[in-house]
Amino acid sequence: MKGVSIPKIFGSMVFNDKVMKARLSKEAYAAVRLAKDEGKPLSLECAKEVAAAMKEWAIEKGATHFTHWFQPMTGITAEKHDSFVEPCGDGDVIMKFSEKSLVKGESDASSFPSGGLRATFEARGYTAWDPTSYAFVKDGSLYIPTAFCSYGGEALDKKTPLLRSMDAFNKQALRILRLFGNTKAKKVTPTVGAEQEYFLIDKSVYEQRLDLVHCGRTLFGARPAKGQELEDHYYGAIKPRVSAFMKELDEELWKLGVYAKTKHNEAAPAQHELAPVFTSTNISTDQNQLTMELMKSVATRHGLVCLLHEKPFASVNGSGKHNNWSISTDLGENLLEPGDTPAKNAQFLLFLTAVIKAVDEYQDLLRISVASAGNDHRLGGYEAPPAIISIYLGEELDGVLKAIEKGEEYSAKRKTDLKIGVSVLPPIPKDSTDRNRTSPFAFTGNKFEFRMVGSSTNIACPNFIINAIVAEELRLFADRLEGAKDFATELDALIRETIINHKRILFSGNNYSKEWEKEAKRRGLLNLKTTVDALPRYADEKNVKMFETHKILSKQEINSRTEILLENYSNIVHIEALTAIDIARKEITPAVIDYQAFLLNELSLKKEFSTLACGLEKKLAERLAVLSEEFSNALDKLIEDVNKYDSTWTNLKKAKYCQSILLKDMAVLRDSADAMEMIIGKDFYAFPTYEDILYSVKY
Ligand code: ADP
Ligand code: MG
Repeated sequence: MKGVSIPKIFGSMVFNDKVMKARLSKEAYAAVRLAKDEGKPLSLECAKEVAAAMKEWAIEKGATHFTHWFQPMTGITAEKHDSFVEPCGDGDVIMKFSEKSLVKGESDASSFPSGGLRATFEARGYTAWDPTSYAFVKDGSLYIPTAFCSYGGEALDKKTPLLRSMDAFNKQALRILRLFGNTKAKKVTPTVGAEQEYFLIDKSVYEQRLDLVHCGRTLFGARPAKGQELEDHYYGAIKPRVSAFMKELDEELWKLGVYAKTKHNEAAPAQHELAPVFTSTNISTDQNQLTMELMKSVATRHGLVCLLHEKPFASVNGSGKHNNWSISTDLGENLLEPGDTPAKNAQFLLFLTAVIKAVDEYQDLLRISVASAGNDHRLGGYEAPPAIISIYLGEELDGVLKAIEKGEEYSAKRKTDLKIGVSVLPPIPKDSTDRNRTSPFAFTGNKFEFRMVGSSTNIACPNFIINAIVAEELRLFADRLEGAKDFATELDALIRETIINHKRILFSGNNYSKEWEKEAKRRGLLNLKTTVDALPRYADEKNVKMFETHKILSKQEINSRTEILLENYSNIVHIEALTAIDIARKEITPAVIDYQAFLLNELSLKKEFSTLACGLEKKLAERLAVLSEEFSNALDKLIEDVNKYDSTWTNLKKAKYCQSILLKDMAVLRDSADAMEMIIGKDFYAFPTYEDILYSVKY
């Protein structure tokens, strides 16, 4: 697309505010804005007008179909396309799209996971238009972002709790702003910018790896001679083929109104990153889902495959998604921006301590929000944060909190009295220089960066949980402050107390170190190493109480989510185990046998000439004999254990079995297979090696 004008294409396929303003009556436009900004329901009359305008616009953009686009618990998005075509007698058709089709869709929910929420006799679910996220046209269809619920109203998707959490957050944050005398702000929105990491490999090598095709990650593969040790890939020059992919991806995203902003090579060979400009948690979530989908489809057009798994390759870095989270008012103020007046700073400190308290009290939920079979391979892998949650604030802010805790002056240089009283706090300098890349939850100047999120995760989960837990702390703070006799004194005490009670969650050191694990244990912090350790805590009493208080999830909905996530975990590991068996039997075993036969044949030929030395062949044959025996035993064990796996067990039992038995068996099998790969001749090996895959995009 040479000479494309970006401002011209940006959002060109989106039914956005500008389009609505131009195509709707003043009344309908105002009503849509109220629905979007304040959650006011739209009248049927207005919906009718919006539907008509949307249809006209979509047809102009080439759409023939429309679809309610939703995010079921499977993690990917779902869509079912209906055409606008409606017969009108005499074999003629009209293009029709009613307000009913816009607002609500019926969907057979029986094939989507519901974790027991929907009894099989009630197979219907429905999708409801989410006017807070714009409709768009893609591949000849009008996409309408929707939430997906059961007929009883229970959430069957990832978007519903996210929207509910945003409402709760808005309500509680406004209470706090009013206490500080802010009467102007009408809405407070949690915002997110999600930096997305991914791998790009050539399609031809991908297709030869059953493990990548079935599981998205390699189950075998010896370490390549060159990995990421030289650090020559990070921010390195982008290869033309990758660059062409990135260019097309950017353009596709811009058309859909996604603010794709930065792109660069990441640490591992074949690894890259895309970061968008932040927006509300809801829109960011939709846009991140779209970004992941487009990464995959655009890659195919370039003969490439995009891997979004958290750990496609052992021995090089896996992929994450840095979830940058902050808080905006409708007046454009960032509430996590340290202000330059004492009053602003006191307000900032209150929001900051609310986040600190939330993270400390709900470590379990944050861990759960990123729990998946894929992410377990990454967390704690000395490349990503460990499974222990802690917060990094940076030296400056750490100093401020320590001083407040002790009631001391923060800095001699500034000669300030550090009572928090709204009138006396000094300006807090924005601290953008020091970074702690090992921290799972780092303050970066005016936002928090949650770094534990896996690359394939739907960010609705971490964000509805962050929104919810911070809303809860804001609620408690507001309750206390609204009842205070003297606001300034109470505020002072509240901030100080919160720091004292929750400072154990603050940590500035190296999160990858063994010492931190010990120290965290001493501090009483949780270390939920695997998904299976974390998930059973979802429905703990304190969590249910918090979610129910804010009407974000009911106990029943939490239970259903736990079941779905556990089941998903065991399905993934079970498929991996079956795939490993397949590869071991049908691809590795023949290679080993062939190579052994080749060596033995060489040996016997040489024996005929007894003077020839045959030390090399002998050594290799002996080594291979030992390894192949280990391999064969490990394979037998894995097969035996897979056969014991019983799909009628409870989801928890299945998940525990997968984690403690199957994954271990697979690791033992892999060890011997990888050791053999190192010595077997390349021609004997059926599938591409790590070297072949990681360097498959050469130019
Ligand atoms: P850094 O270099 O500190 O990581 P960037 O400006 O590159 O900062 O931002 C990284 C990501 O954080 C981007 O996706 C960006 O949109 C996002 N981000 C910046 N400000 C905010 C904010 N207020 N709320 C949410 N995300 C934000
Ligand atoms: Mg960043």
